[in-house]
Amino acid sequence: MTSVIPGSSFPGAQSSGSQSSAPQSSGPQSSGPLQEPLRFGVYTGIEAELQSPEAVPAAAQLGLEPPRFCGQCGRRMVVQVRPDGWDARCSRHGTVDSSEVGQR
Ligand SMILES: [Zn+2]
Repeated sequence: MTSVIPGSSFPGAQSSGSQSSAPQSSGPQSSGPLQEPLRFGVYTGIEAELQSPEAVPAAAQLGLEPPRFCGQCGRRMVVQVRPDGWDARCSRHGTVDSSEVGQR
């Protein structure tokens, strides 16, 4: 007698490979030198609490001048003025661009 036993179990239920995608940092990253609240005057480098309003140049108040100091740590930033704007870089807090500030 030849009897076929159909009960052969085989591993059919393999765990479907769940490819773990690297988490992409989405959303606006606004942790730059000009992130609010500012702890230092970005035009004077003076602590915000100690800075008098007169210390800020008038042109700077109008947004015509790029910030010279990091608002987070008060370091002097490397400022580059371009025909279409400017960018300022803090060695610790990164770069801020005039287009990011919304000055038009
Ligand atoms: Zn900084």
